[in-house]
Amino acid sequence: MAVIAGNWKMHHGPGATQQFFSSLVLPANAGAHEVLVFPTSLSLAAAVAARGRDPRVQLGIQNIHWEDKGAFTGEVSAAMAREAGAAFALVGHSERRHLFGETDDEVSRKIAAAKRHGLVPVVCVGETLDERRQGRVEEVVLRQLDAALPTLTGSDGRFLLAYEPVWAIGTGETATPDDAAAAHGTLRVRLDEALGPSRSSRVPILYGGSVKPDNARDLLAARDVDGVLVGGASLDAGSFAALVEAAA
Ligand code: PEP
Repeated sequence: MAVIAGNWKMHHGPGATQQFFSSLVLPANAGAHEVLVFPTSLSLAAAVAARGRDPRVQLGIQNIHWEDKGAFTGEVSAAMAREAGAAFALVGHSERRHLFGETDDEVSRKIAAAKRHGLVPVVCVGETLDERRQGRVEEVVLRQLDAALPTLTGSDGRFLLAYEPVWAIGTGETATPDDAAAAHGTLRVRLDEALGPSRSSRVPILYGGSVKPDNARDLLAARDVDGVLVGGASLDAGSFAALVEAAA
């Protein structure tokens, strides 16, 4: 089973969300995989309604605040996201870390909030181009994972990881299957140490960064790549269906 997740970022309002789901024809293999869509929080209700009773598509929220409520203008809480129909929460996406200055500590607090309210966290880690050029991929992804692990493992409950090299997001540059396998292997070893191999094997590690229908199959075949987190190529219903098909 693979996880195919679409992160719509700041695209698709309620109308476009409704259109996406009405034209989405998932391939026959979809039931064998976990298919997730992360619409904008404003489009979540439209996604819930448009998805209907199709249990093959699960929904998530792209970002939450760590507090449950309060004077935080513009923010949404995990409890609200859950009530609105989200089952998953992206946490620590590189755009949040780099454009909005989200720290490892804030990522941990968001993970805690997600878990408190029954959302499955999908925690993103990844190095910048400079860090890669300096040979610091392992150091960076392990620092990000280690900061999140106590909260992720402090209580039971599922979580997913996504390795998303910053230089590959939205750039058309994709990590090679070998690059992805190397970083995923590093993360898997740390998960094995922290959780034991049995619980670790239940934590999917997704690759994200310019995944398209024509490179998804090779990336999904790489060692330790359990799924993909896709931005641009998840916006079109036909392309999203083709990504799910590639997971065959
Ligand atoms: C993402 O948004 O997580 C992502 C990987 O984007 P893209 O597929 O467009 O590179």
